[in-house]
Amino acid sequence: MPDMRYRSTRGGVTGQSFADVLLAGLAPDGGLFVPETYPSLSPARLEDLAGASFADAAAAVLPLFIGQDTPHFADTAWDRFAHPATTPLVQMGADDFLLELVHGPTLAFKDVAMQWLGPMFSDGLAKAGRQMTIVCATSGDTGGAAVEAMAGRQATRLCVLHPENRISEVQRRFMTTVAADNVMNLAVRGTFDDCQSLVKAMFADETFRHQVGLGAVNSINWARIIAQTIYYVTSSLTLSRQGGVVHYAVPTGNFGDILAGWVAKRLGAPVGHLIVATNENDILTRCLSTGSYRPDRVVETQSPSMDIQVSSNFERLLFEASGGDADLVRHLMHQLKTEGGFDVPTQVLSTITEEFSAYRVDEEATADKMATVFAQSGRLIDPHTAIGLAAAERGRQAGLQGPIVTLSTAHAAKFPAAVEAATGVAPTLPPHVRDLFGRPEHMISVDAELEAVKGQILHSFAL
Ligand SMILES: *Cc1c(COP(=O)(O)O)cnc(C)c1O
Repeated sequence: MPDMRYRSTRGGVTGQSFADVLLAGLAPDGGLFVPETYPSLSPARLEDLAGASFADAAAAVLPLFIGQDTPHFADTAWDRFAHPATTPLVQMGADDFLLELVHGPTLAFKDVAMQWLGPMFSDGLAKAGRQMTIVCATSGDTGGAAVEAMAGRQATRLCVLHPENRISEVQRRFMTTVAADNVMNLAVRGTFDDCQSLVKAMFADETFRHQVGLGAVNSINWARIIAQTIYYVTSSLTLSRQGGVVHYAVPTGNFGDILAGWVAKRLGAPVGHLIVATNENDILTRCLSTGSYRPDRVVETQSPSMDIQVSSNFERLLFEASGGDADLVRHLMHQLKTEGGFDVPTQVLSTITEEFSAYRVDEEATADKMATVFAQSGRLIDPHTAIGLAAAERGRQAGLQGPIVTLSTAHAAKFPAAVEAATGVAPTLPPHVRDLFGRPEHMISVDAELEAVKGQILHSFAL
């Protein structure tokens, strides 16, 4: 079988290998990498995988996307997950389930992809004889997951920028309490937008970019998507009855996690309808109901990891749903930049809504869901998961039949204030991270100023 080749959603590049795609992140034409053709698992192979462990499913799925000769680390990458099933299913109702993606080192679903990205990046860079300085602006979950993934790894350095005093203590501690020479945390005296602008400015600075070997691990990286297809494969095969499908409700921000469900379906996994669950930042809900994709102002909610108005991975779905029309995608993305939005062509929209629906869950409904789940089951769920469950319920009311799985994307203890406000109970940290508040923190405070940040990176990593 020839190895998978990748092309850009904007048509400027084709024929890229997985190794190219892994390290580049974004395509040089500004587009996102997608497979030239989607691989699939044969019915016999799928039957074999029913009941397989997470690692065994990973070992079957990953080579389809990365090639047979690329090491895939499936047997060790998820060792740090604190649950023997890695991503266990929990039954919530007759045909309603939670898929817990929260047992990794930072208690959020981003660990699933990042724990794999760590060894993959290290290996890819070592083979290319390169070193990379990864910079990452975070408003919460991504930074911690990146630190836990990259700490101590060869060929990589990681600098995480967070807005000083503007993220929760739990989130900050997941980033700042890991002591490793190749990791640096910058507490920027500014906002998250300042952090993002600083990262953009570093990438725009060609001399600096080459000097430090600048790179990123953001959610448009295709490698993150394929790591996330694994739990759709395992859970759909576990719950499928007599060849029936399993539907998913996914708390959505950048559209990476739910796109992984769509990719699992292309693989042949019995995935049915995909429910996009959004908070009050509802660009996707508006887009799927009206066809108009138009970012609004970001509003702050209890589910900050979904406080996003531009949903980057949606570009991949637009590309696929238009039959691979790179000219269309390039045109729409140009309109987004110059006119602040675009209209999805009717035919493309109807292709999308055959497989996806979307619901907006407001702040009150989110809190209500946390309260009712606690009252009915004694279980504490975080606000992101609550949005998923509320959307699943609406999907059910709209007529979905059979199993519905809601992805639980963060542990309640990661958002203690919102959980306690809704339920009256303060969630506690699980055993594997219970010492979080006793660990020493490592961070450097800097002004939101490009030269200061660049200077700190050069100095700390002795470049
Ligand atoms: C990142 C994140 C999401 C959104 O995932 P996307 O792939 O960006 O759609 C949802 N919940 C939590 C807790 C997250 O950290």
